[in-house]
Amino acid sequence: MMRAVSWILVVAVGIGIGALVWSFAPRTLPLSPSAPLTLSLMIPPQPPPTMRVGVLHTGLMRSRGLFAYRGGDAGERVFGMDVVIVEHPQGTLLFDAGFGRRLHEHLRTIPWLMRLLSAVELQAPVVDQLVDASIAPASIDGVVLTHAHWDHVSGLDDLPGVPVWINQAELDFIRSGHPATRLARELGERDYRIYAFDGPPYWGFDASHDVFGDGSVVLVPAGGHTPGSTIAFIHAPDGRSYALIGDLAWQREGVDLPAERPWLLRKLVDGDDARVREVLVRLHLLQRAMPQLVIVPAHDRRVMQRLPPARHDEALHRGHPA
Ligand SMILES: [Zn+2]
Repeated sequence: MMRAVSWILVVAVGIGIGALVWSFAPRTLPLSPSAPLTLSLMIPPQPPPTMRVGVLHTGLMRSRGLFAYRGGDAGERVFGMDVVIVEHPQGTLLFDAGFGRRLHEHLRTIPWLMRLLSAVELQAPVVDQLVDASIAPASIDGVVLTHAHWDHVSGLDDLPGVPVWINQAELDFIRSGHPATRLARELGERDYRIYAFDGPPYWGFDASHDVFGDGSVVLVPAGGHTPGSTIAFIHAPDGRSYALIGDLAWQREGVDLPAERPWLLRKLVDGDDARVREVLVRLHLLQRAMPQLVIVPAHDRRVMQRLPPARHDEALHRGHPA
């Protein structure tokens, strides 16, 4: 009897390990969008000529491609912890806050398995980089969160008083007490500015919020990764357009293939895998229809490096790779 039970246990464990390994195997998502993709916009973007878009690289995490998407390899993959800055005549916004000075204290708020799977390095906290670029931290009009996970809010710690732009679903997620938003709560009560998706459907997404009223920065609800995960479409005056997709995909292959994260990682980080799959397919189709749009996963340093550095000198950086 005992022998039979032992064998059943061995077989069960074997099946479990086999299923876990299989969940890392390459598998692309079927391309069946749930709604037709409409590319014409009611109001074409009219970014003012003085608007600037830049990037600040605050830190990185050394991980593996296989953790980022199904079919990724076992080689080292750098996950950037980057902040995008938009300087618009109506206001200066950061998109996510990257790493802050007290990163190592912040790391204690994340689950041990996440800590085990990643090696984090602080490059330069966002506040110090703003000062270096001659941008007064107090002059920032808001930090727009793609979502409220720890690695996107750590830098808020050094930006006291700077408003945090968020939608109601993500604020509810913070206030729900969910462990994934522990750092956002521990940073204390913030000046949250709640925006509503009060505009029309936008490139396959149900609704939108036009931040400056000129179509240069448009937020759309994505959900999936977290309840209020947001995509920011940014149209620069030089004709370049970016889609900041937060952590819907960690690396660009998530959209290019498209491919979701392996099961283990989905269970660790995603709230609604089916919605993540739907958004990845939608972004994949959008990229096919608009090859010039740069889709920017929050942690793909290769893509983030295609954005100009913050407050760059146009003359010095002419010829920067597009
Ligand atoms: Zn992240």
